[in-house]
Amino acid sequence: MSDGSETVYLNGAYVPYEEARIPVEDRGTLFADGIYEVVRAYAGRLFELEAHLERLVQSAGEIRLNLPPVDELRAAVRGVLDRSGLADSSIYIQITRGFAGPRAHAVPQGIAPTVFVAARPVPRPDAAHVRDGAAAITVPDRRWHMCHVKSVGLLLNTLAKQAALDAGAQEALFVRDGVVTEGSATNCFAVFGGTVHTHPEGPHILSGITRQVLLALCADEGIPAREQPFLVSAMYGADEVFVTGTNTEVLPIRTVDGRPIGTGEPGPVARRLRAAMERRVRG
Ligand code: PMP
Repeated sequence: MSDGSETVYLNGAYVPYEEARIPVEDRGTLFADGIYEVVRAYAGRLFELEAHLERLVQSAGEIRLNLPPVDELRAAVRGVLDRSGLADSSIYIQITRGFAGPRAHAVPQGIAPTVFVAARPVPRPDAAHVRDGAAAITVPDRRWHMCHVKSVGLLLNTLAKQAALDAGAQEALFVRDGVVTEGSATNCFAVFGGTVHTHPEGPHILSGITRQVLLALCADEGIPAREQPFLVSAMYGADEVFVTGTNTEVLPIRTVDGRPIGTGEPGPVARRLRAAMERRVRG
């Protein structure tokens, strides 16, 4: 994605991507000991930046990671965006616990975190999938019980995503004890009889910023919504399924495990929420 000319932010300085270096034994590479955020810019405006920074602070608290001042992060996000020349961008913020010498499990005290921020072009879902709906598969949710932390430890998410691609689908939906938790990089919603359902917050999902925006849009639009778990068996019979995320926005799901959902086309609720989201991000 980078041609090497891109300017990134690393530990207090703006540097060319090719010159951005971290020690091999950074805690991030050894233990996935770090957290991240992805923030969207629309026409140069940062969407829900404060909510993302707040979630970063929460993630840091959960793993006892000392964050740099939030003002520094806010400035770095703006800094890489301005230097990128991109109007629409996906800004990646990664903070690992840092480098503490040779590998040792115990959590080191008093070391400086490694802070990396980069503004990238947006990896948008395929326009045809947005228009006609995407395909999803289900996979067993074998992840840990701290999915509310936006950890860089995403191995099972990457394998789930690859399983979806291998099956000719675009997203994998995790299923824990028969319940649909979330997607590999998205939150999952199902519509039953006009009411939107999504898994409640807690240790089994990442509480998406887009999920929060969607729930607020449901309220604005007068669409009933419940933060209530639903079974995978129920999802197959839902009127609509869609997934949300910072890069994904609102993506209708046409089939799950090869079974058509509803009419097999994007439904009215997803289309309405997508339009409302479009107004919100561009507004
Ligand atoms: N769940 C998971 C596992 C994710 O990786 C993401 C996106 N990073 C989301 C949900 C959606 O979160 P957001 O709307 O804040 O991008």
